[in-house]
Amino acid sequence: MKLLHDLQTELAQLNAESRLRKRRTLQSPCAPEVKVDSRTLINFAANDYLGLANHPQLIAAAQQAVQQWGVGAGASHLVSGHFDVHAEMEQALARFVDMPAALGFTTGYMANLGIVTALANRGDVVFADKLNHASLIDAQQLCRAEVKRYPHKDLDALTRLLADTPARHRFIVTDAVFSMDGDLAPLEELLALAKQYDALLIVDDAHGFGVLGPQGRGSLAHLGLQDERILYMGTLGKAAGVHGAFVAGHETLIQYLLQTARSGIFTTAAPPMLAACVLACLPLIEQGDALRAQLRAHITTLRKALSVSAGAETRTTTTAQWQLLPSDTAIQPIVLGDNAEAVRVANALWERGIWAPAIRPPTVPIGTARLRVSLSAAHSPAQVQTLIDALRDLQ
Ligand SMILES: *Cc1c(COP(=O)(O)O)cnc(C)c1O
Repeated sequence: MKLLHDLQTELAQLNAESRLRKRRTLQSPCAPEVKVDSRTLINFAANDYLGLANHPQLIAAAQQAVQQWGVGAGASHLVSGHFDVHAEMEQALARFVDMPAALGFTTGYMANLGIVTALANRGDVVFADKLNHASLIDAQQLCRAEVKRYPHKDLDALTRLLADTPARHRFIVTDAVFSMDGDLAPLEELLALAKQYDALLIVDDAHGFGVLGPQGRGSLAHLGLQDERILYMGTLGKAAGVHGAFVAGHETLIQYLLQTARSGIFTTAAPPMLAACVLACLPLIEQGDALRAQLRAHITTLRKALSVSAGAETRTTTTAQWQLLPSDTAIQPIVLGDNAEAVRVANALWERGIWAPAIRPPTVPIGTARLRVSLSAAHSPAQVQTLIDALRDLQ
């Protein structure tokens, strides 16, 4: 078959470019130390920033909820799959991020597809940061609106695009914390532009929810931003340690998404057990200042150790070739440039019992292959030091 032949050629090409991906199979729960392929490794590859994924209170909540609600939801939310505990979760999430209303989705990917395709239609224009998450890029491609992408965090370019593009409705779409770089979007300035050009600001806070802001209430709280022209998307499978996502904002937006977001309508509701776990994780996040302080300490330790100069330079160079990106968050990428070099270093770390994934194109721009180190409050200082020693050794 020609198709199979062509696909094999393509896969061989990926392999030749060190871009063929492999899944590692874990034999233990998500934790700072994991068993993988019968080895024990320190895990710097997960987004479990507060160490909640395997928390005893969440395990207990899941067990109790399975007893009460069973396993499957049986139908979509609009048919018969919307349970008490789902409704309670949405209310609790809205309260937690201090927004009028919230709507659950089964994943962040589906939330982003649903939001953008429901709201942005013919005659509208979506303005999007070029480094937005893949789910937002897919959503942009799927929607019927025109899409204008601006260079990463380039407010001047965005302003020109906003001024030059006539539109029925405008949407500014951005990651709050960029998933492969770890840096923060200029949300305050983006909101000001949204006001000036009558746009809705859509903020994907997958990596800020639970970690940033007072009580972990997210990137908007971190910056003290609140406005009816912000639509907030938070995910529940990262710092929250569970699974799923939610969108929060003005009641009209939430009601409209409930009616029209196809990725929320034409899919089976998440197991009610997951909603119960989310309800159980919120107090842990809220009372998690000690966890966030621990995470912050790890970030500072790693950055200090890997920086040659602690000056105000935007890019801190670890060596001539390696660049530690200017990230203040749990995501600490070290750009190595070359795909093969990134794989070499990731493999060498692996041999030393450290799991830090090599991220390659197309996930990141060509020539910027990197190690993506994810820190967690659950790591011990000794584990972070082991990583630092190994990186120094390998440079
Ligand atoms: C992980 C991630 C998503 C997708 O969320 P899931 O719940 O894993 O589908 C969306 N946006 C960003 C920025 C992410 O990092």
